[in-house]
Amino acid sequence: MDYDAYFAGMQRWAKLGELSEYGSVQENGRAYPLLRLIVPGKRWLTVTSGFHGEEPAGPLTLLERLGEVVDYARARDVGLRVYPLINPSGFEAGTRYNASGERPNNDMLRYEVAPGVWRGELKAGEPFVGWAPFTEGPKETRALRADLNRFEPPAAALDLHQDQGMKGRYAYAYVFGDLDAYRPLMARTAERMAIAGRTVVDEAAGLSSDAEGFVVYHDGSVTDWFQRTGVPWTAVLETTCETPLETCHEVNLVWLRGFIDLAARR
Ligand SMILES: [Zn+2]
Repeated sequence: MDYDAYFAGMQRWAKLGELSEYGSVQENGRAYPLLRLIVPGKRWLTVTSGFHGEEPAGPLTLLERLGEVVDYARARDVGLRVYPLINPSGFEAGTRYNASGERPNNDMLRYEVAPGVWRGELKAGEPFVGWAPFTEGPKETRALRADLNRFEPPAAALDLHQDQGMKGRYAYAYVFGDLDAYRPLMARTAERMAIAGRTVVDEAAGLSSDAEGFVVYHDGSVTDWFQRTGVPWTAVLETTCETPLETCHEVNLVWLRGFIDLAARR
């Protein structure tokens, strides 16, 4: 799907709240306006999707089903800030990174692992001296950060991804905080598709999920940044790209509703 069609399709949700452009990026010799929907509420959930262009399910769930998500949030007085497609030029081409090859996903913060030594991620259990927002990085990341910084941290934040490399139909999640909060969501996911427990999820980083399909990894992503800024519930849901799109939609909705419930708890 080209981005103009995606952008036009999102306009039908404009009646649900404030649909506006939080920025614009130049790629392929053109401007890509960046969209976000704000629906007011007492407590807030931030939703991001489409960091990686070859992971279309999240942006498509939001394009197709955002109305249901907003209804569910309104009924619980949860406000939404939805960034449905972070990386439009990557989405259009089906490439992981943007058209100029920048990697929008992991440049929200940096860790100081020893005095004066900065890195983009932490190994499991690795101690660190401090962290700082990363102010350079890809244009999509800078545009998102500038917009997120306009608001107080939300009560909860969910980032929808997919796994291109893993074979078969599976789901798992990168999470921070109290795992009890996410167990019911994983159980509802398991009613719809298999969970990738004790599975290698990132060979380069030597990273595997635990028996329940959870991964805790400080990777400099928006989710990592949210937990550092004090957001109690923040996660990345992953479904494999081999999973039928309809199943991805259902599982994405399970987690969207679940995160609205978590935000409402606060
Ligand atoms: Zn991804």
